[in-house]
Amino acid sequence: MGANGKMVQVPSSLTVRELATLISVSPIDVIKELMNNGIMANINQVLDYDTAAIVVQEMGFEAQELKPVEPEKAEEAGPATLWQRLYADEDAAKLRPRPPVVTVMGHVDHGKTSLLDAIRHSDVAGAEAGGITQRIGAYQIVHNGRKITFLDTPGHEAFTAMRARGAQATDLAVLVVAADDGVMPQTLEAIAHAKAARVPIVVALNKIDKPDANPERVKKELSDNGLVIDEYGGDVLCILVSAKKKQNIDDLLEAILLVADSIEIKANPDRPAVGTVIESMMDKSRGPMATLLVQNGTLRLGDPMVVGTSYGRVRAMFDERGQPAQQAGPSIPVKVLGLASVPTAGDMFQVVKNEKVAKTIAAERIGAAHEAASAGGPVRPLTLNDLYAQIQAGKVKELALIIKADGQGSIEPIVNSLEKLGGENVKVNILHASTGNISENDVMLAVASHGIVIGFDVIVDPAARKMADAEGVDIRLYNIIYKLVEDVEKALKGLLEPVYEDKVIGHAEVRQTFKIRSVGVIAGCIVRDGLAQRDAKARVRRGEQVIFEGGLHSLKRFQEDVKEVKTGFDCGVALEGFSDYKEGDTVEFYVKERVS
Ligand code: GDP
Repeated sequence: MGANGKMVQVPSSLTVRELATLISVSPIDVIKELMNNGIMANINQVLDYDTAAIVVQEMGFEAQELKPVEPEKAEEAGPATLWQRLYADEDAAKLRPRPPVVTVMGHVDHGKTSLLDAIRHSDVAGAEAGGITQRIGAYQIVHNGRKITFLDTPGHEAFTAMRARGAQATDLAVLVVAADDGVMPQTLEAIAHAKAARVPIVVALNKIDKPDANPERVKKELSDNGLVIDEYGGDVLCILVSAKKKQNIDDLLEAILLVADSIEIKANPDRPAVGTVIESMMDKSRGPMATLLVQNGTLRLGDPMVVGTSYGRVRAMFDERGQPAQQAGPSIPVKVLGLASVPTAGDMFQVVKNEKVAKTIAAERIGAAHEAASAGGPVRPLTLNDLYAQIQAGKVKELALIIKADGQGSIEPIVNSLEKLGGENVKVNILHASTGNISENDVMLAVASHGIVIGFDVIVDPAARKMADAEGVDIRLYNIIYKLVEDVEKALKGLLEPVYEDKVIGHAEVRQTFKIRSVGVIAGCIVRDGLAQRDAKARVRRGEQVIFEGGLHSLKRFQEDVKEVKTGFDCGVALEGFSDYKEGDTVEFYVKERVS
């Protein structure tokens, strides 16, 4: 096939899947085409431009390289600033009130799902409008003639996962607390996650129908944990409900609207739509589907849009009752068909001029994402080591910390001491402090808030460690309180000593020993792996035991002093202050490397 087809802009690197989306063919066809060219690739393999161009041309298109976007431009198109500029650029005169968007959070089994169900069925008007209600990830109800949008994936995990992607769909959080159970670990997490996002909280004190319900005790517990209920002089509304018996649901909705009125919840309906992907899936017969929450502007049938690194045109829209919709204004969730690939929940969408523009921005983003990934992540996360530099550069005004400790007894002194730190330029903000090991939720909260996780006498869950490594989140572990506090203080002042870690560079096996008068005992070795280095440090291992650790006196090959000896070669090793080698000992060479 010749290269006389349509022009396709191809980023400097992209995956097989992304390439398939770009030229609207199946990934299998791309893989086959690569195979024809002698390249074995899987669907997630990253291709460079030259390789991708071959496929593109073989498939009858013409390829043009899309140069990596400049950081400034990438940021303009990227999701983080899009959210910030969602309303900021709007002319105040064009802003109209929009329904609040609400997320339900709380401890497992406290009744989040039951409450979402009860709220949904309280909407008599909605039920009369007919149609079988479907789960699309969000729904709207009408209370006293006013609309409220509920996201129906409850829990702070989904909420914070979205924030970690730079999106925030929620205006307000309902915290469900079972009146017979009280404040539990995930209740505290939910409070922390909502506070970190600066989202106001309304408390639904659930299960008041239960004989052992004790609302007063729970209210006190909440107040003790920083969520001060209005009766206790705070500003948090607390409504006693029973999701099961559908009691006081109206009061809860009333409270939600009251809080919504106290914050600016507005948007400009008269502009191209922008918003967030709430849910997405691949439908076998209809292709990629996504539930979009419009956050500003109005989405219309036929609108071309870019969604994360995908793009498309709104071919069909449905509301939560499965009814076709022509348009969707601010705070309205709709299920949309017509995207080229399945976007990820938390991706932002944006209506653009035409499909060509959509395609170009999507391709730019794919390129920018790969560039960023190879440069160590899109936004470099904060670490205690580079905190001071960031403060100096004016990039950090607040040090957000997530503290996990072995017991309540350690949390108090740690939090008290840390809160005293901070200064004029930077504030210490403890997002969350609780007992237990460091979990994925803690890491996610750190990602979403550019925070650092500090553990005291706890361990890191393997899944959390994996996520922290992938996202570059700094986890610091301590077992002495003053050392923990001292490190944070030093980091704030730019006095933190760099941390060095041992890095093993090679092993040698002792084959025989020689006595040399002026030097002492020399071990005749063969390097088994890596390198032996004159300037390295060495450990002598005998079986499981380390019997000596120290510096090298000399490293020789055939009487010649050398700097290093590679795998497979013989050498003579003399260590400072050690002579008791035995045949079969292993000499392990290591260097101190600065941990960034
Ligand atoms: P979630 O894990 O927070 O979503 O909790 P669920 O909504 O699944 O509820 C957990 C359990 O509590 C279920 O067995 C519900 O039937 C029960 N439950 C929820 N709300 C109430 C309530 O108001 N009263 C009583 N008695 N039980 C409730």
